[in-house]
Amino acid sequence: MSFGDDLYVLYRGPLASCNYNCPYCPFAKRVDPPELLRGDKSDLERFVGWVRETTDRRLSVLFTPWGEGLTRSWYRDAIVELSHLPHVARVAIQTNLAARTGWLSAANPQVAALWATFHPGQVTIERFLSRCRELDALGVRYSVGVVGLPAHFDDAVALRAALPPSVYLWINAADGHVYTADEERRWTALDPRFGDSVRPHASLGQPCHAGETAISVLGDGTVRRCHFIPAPIGNLYDGTWRAGLRPRACGNSLCDCHIGYVHLKPLQLRDVYADGLLERIPAVWPLEVVS
Ligand code: SF4
Ligand code: SF4
Repeated sequence: MSFGDDLYVLYRGPLASCNYNCPYCPFAKRVDPPELLRGDKSDLERFVGWVRETTDRRLSVLFTPWGEGLTRSWYRDAIVELSHLPHVARVAIQTNLAARTGWLSAANPQVAALWATFHPGQVTIERFLSRCRELDALGVRYSVGVVGLPAHFDDAVALRAALPPSVYLWINAADGHVYTADEERRWTALDPRFGDSVRPHASLGQPCHAGETAISVLGDGTVRRCHFIPAPIGNLYDGTWRAGLRPRACGNSLCDCHIGYVHLKPLQLRDVYADGLLERIPAVWPLEVVS
């Protein structure tokens, strides 16, 4: 069987609830009403059906819910099913890793992956690490990240020290925080790629894969270039997404989120992450120490 070109798909349904209470997040402890959850479930099932049937592209899917998805059975079921489809190269989700992980034993560990974020104050390092050890035992790929707030630094150091060297720890620059040179150096010592995140990228007029080989999909099938440019370029379910794909320059002045700027062509980050693009694992990791 041969597949067409790669298409990276970021999916975000209406779900916006979370079991955690992070002070830096608008979705902290938010509760979704039952009808919204039912809608999120049926939207996701429709999306899974689209993936199942779209066999002429090699698809890589990242679920980027506003809140936490893995406490909902339909996200777990979607990851298991998609991981077994021959034309799906990757299925990953952004998660706080609070939920149990045993369900992943039914997934294909060559395809399913997690983008896990540690949230200081919401969970102990030991408990978070126990989840990571479960993933190690299952053979599931994952990255671990921390928001680079000054108050998180000691926890990030402890996490880096405790994680196996084979696990990549990323640091996201905190929104609105301007890093001194010394802070930047200290965070970079934990994450050698912190420089990608520390300052927003001037993207206006720059060529970007988003809208050409990467798309953002909403629950109703609206297709946009990325999560950061609201104009639709088509819909998944009427087939118009196909005609909407073409090379384009970015129309925003800045791109400051990893799930966006990894597609910004001048940064060449697809070469850095390769198969680990969606779950944020550099292709060469751990870095070789040159003595
Ligand atoms: S775990 Fe994520 S979604 Fe939940 S409150 Fe924290 S930052 Fe928000
Ligand atoms: S550079 Fe960022 S904001 Fe601009 S099109 Fe690409 S992903 Fe979207």
